[in-house]
Amino acid sequence: MTQLHEKLQALFDRSGVKTQSELARLGGWKGRSSVQRFFKPMPSEFLESGSAKKFIQAMVGRGHPPITKGEIMALTEVGPTIIERACWFCKTPIHACFGFVLVRDYLAIDAAIKARTPLPPFRELCGICVEKASQLMFGDDV
Ligand SMILES: [Zn+2]
Repeated sequence: MTQLHEKLQALFDRSGVKTQSELARLGGWKGRSSVQRFFKPMPSEFLESGSAKKFIQAMVGRGHPPITKGEIMALTEVGPTIIERACWFCKTPIHACFGFVLVRDYLAIDAAIKARTPLPPFRELCGICVEKASQLMFGDDV
């Protein structure tokens, strides 16, 4: 299995960022000495979220193909998550776990989480829209 530092090295190489000092500057680390550790074997197999944020700031959109937020999030313990979620129908932002996902989409998300790959696009409804939909389907007396 590829280790965390090897995955970070692959992203770094692909990003086209030339030096570790440049990476540190882009991500807002103090300097080269703060990023060196990411390219050597580490005790943790996951990237901690504070560091993930810095890698996202430094690398997303760079390279061919462009590095995505999901690729960096996939290295964290949380795994690839969608940062901005909204109701597919009314566009209300959805926070935490209060969204309702169609079963078919849910299965694809579940598979992606298990494989630790970026999440596929999916449709999610807020509680109010789910309520409205169930009233339409089953009447008010559910
Ligand atoms: Zn809604």
